[in-house]
Amino acid sequence: MLRDARHVLNGTHIDCDLCVIGGGAAGLTIARELAGGSLSVVLLEGGGLEVDGISQALYAGRNVGLPYERLTTARSRYLGGSTNCWGGFSRPLETTDFAERPWIPGSGWPIRRDTMMPYYERSHSVLGLGPFEYDNDYWMERVGGPRTELIPVEADDGGGVGSPGGFENRVAQLSPPIRMGEAYRAEIGRAANITAFLNANVTGLDTNHSATAVEKVQVRTLGGPGFTVGARLFVLGCGGIENARILLLSNKVQAAGLGNGNDLVGRYFADHPRFKTAPVRLARQGRHRTLYDVSLCLARRRLRRPHPSIALALSPTAELQERKALPNSRTYLVASYHSGALDAFKAMRDLRLLPSRHRCRRFGVSEDEAASLLRNAGPRILRSLPQLAHALFDSTIDPGWLPRRFTLETVLEPVPNPESRVTLDHATDPFGRNLPKVDWRLTAQDRWGATETQRLLREDLLRRGLIAVDGGEGHEEGGRSEAEATMADVGWCWHHMGTTRMHDSPRHGVVDSDGRVHGVGNLYVAGSSVFPTMGADHPTMTIVALALRMTDRILALLQDERNSPPAPAIAASL
Ligand SMILES: Cc1cc2nc3c(=O)[nH]c(=O)nc-3n(C[C@H](O)[C@H](O)[C@H](O)COP(=O)(O)OP(=O)(O)OC[C@H]3O[C@@H](n4cnc5c(N)ncnc54)[C@H](O)[C@@H]3O)c2cc1C
Repeated sequence: MLRDARHVLNGTHIDCDLCVIGGGAAGLTIARELAGGSLSVVLLEGGGLEVDGISQALYAGRNVGLPYERLTTARSRYLGGSTNCWGGFSRPLETTDFAERPWIPGSGWPIRRDTMMPYYERSHSVLGLGPFEYDNDYWMERVGGPRTELIPVEADDGGGVGSPGGFENRVAQLSPPIRMGEAYRAEIGRAANITAFLNANVTGLDTNHSATAVEKVQVRTLGGPGFTVGARLFVLGCGGIENARILLLSNKVQAAGLGNGNDLVGRYFADHPRFKTAPVRLARQGRHRTLYDVSLCLARRRLRRPHPSIALALSPTAELQERKALPNSRTYLVASYHSGALDAFKAMRDLRLLPSRHRCRRFGVSEDEAASLLRNAGPRILRSLPQLAHALFDSTIDPGWLPRRFTLETVLEPVPNPESRVTLDHATDPFGRNLPKVDWRLTAQDRWGATETQRLLREDLLRRGLIAVDGGEGHEEGGRSEAEATMADVGWCWHHMGTTRMHDSPRHGVVDSDGRVHGVGNLYVAGSSVFPTMGADHPTMTIVALALRMTDRILALLQDERNSPPAPAIAASL
């Protein structure tokens, strides 16, 4: 059943077996798994059924670290969460991403990839992906053609880092992309055991006097009623920034915030940094571009050619990572006109704000902000028109003869960094709750890892005659050397991770290997905030796999409790 929280009687208290906070990738996965079962589930979603600036504005916050996307536009605040705006790129993390690696401080999960595999497999149907298959040969047979081939970095060329054990091809699948709110709202609405409250903003978790169990959550609506929800178990699934914020705000008993006895909540905030090289040309563009040019892969998905869609990237093998003490990474191609075209698209989106205040609200932008965006939109569009025209022509007509320049774009596994963190700001939201302050930082090791990875890959591709650099080696782009170009304009991927990291010991992690908050027996955290090491791949498939695993655990736990004598047994297991 779907209900609007604004119609609940003020001061109401609702009890259930399981309370899921947040209706995004993680929360909806859990709720769907339990739909039609015997457990009573309350899902609390802060937004409504579609994008709404007023709800979006509740995602405000302050960036004080590296330049980063405005927090109101860096995620979607309505049913389906950020699957409403995600790109759909999906691939399981690698075996080594789960392992402790001496050259990556703080690395390693308390669970192994083997444990995750059945859940990764199940995540495919949740995310609308193709067959559970990540073998390059399989995909080349299925979607490759006589004119498409993998970049042959795995072939033994008799020396250098590029011989076997150097770089490898990794395939990612592209979800249509599924918008989980739209796809699953009917199913949730039909489930008699689930009540999903929309516009239900959770402002804090109330615990018992020792902060060892959550008793109820506080729910507020904008200008409307407030109510509470009690449950036997609670799952917090509000995304990588809000999960930390809500725990920090829940400080009535534990002054530092719930689960924060060891000052870890909010620390280790990470996104996947993106680094670009100066432009290169492909020696065999006709054969190699289709699978590696990310803009073309997205355009082909839009045209459903081929389906299911895939995209390829080049990554250091586990051996190379170990040999050179490198972090994991994936590098793909981005056509040189892409960033200009993207900026023109963004400027056009800003123009949509033009005539009405209503639209400003809809997109979560203040009127002052809108005025400044609009002043800049015209010049930005004019400046980027040639690239926009180029992009449209190239992705729809795709002429084989057109010469193109590409940047090699590397997405890097960030080194876990306790100084990169989410804390509470002094500014508050309309409920009087402190906004998040995001201090995204990278370490010298991250920057070295990016430069070194790009140097090794470029050398390998050049030696094999697969790329050419305009003007030869040492070419300078816009007066910048290659190394400087790599470090300029660090980008991000909108992947908010690490703030409630998973570890067997409460001294090193906020949650245990099941996602349960150390010391708080009935509180679980779902989402990429629990990732202790991030890998270089897209997080959502791992988020969904972890949510499926968590649901199995929760089901078993609650059903066990039902079958055993009440209070003492329940208290002990919680
Ligand atoms: C532009 C963009 C592109 C992306 N592309 C990819 C990609 O290609 N591949 C990939 O794997 N990932 C991608 N991602 C990341 C992906 O969207 C997230 O990993 C995923 O959605 C996170 O799932 P989640 O459930 O943890 O959080 P979310 O999906 O963000 O859901 C959180 C939910 O909690 C609700 N909520 C927040 N605060 C409260 C509160 N106080 N009370 C009640 N409810 C609340 C929100 O409204 C939201 O519905 C992308 C993200 C963005 C923004």
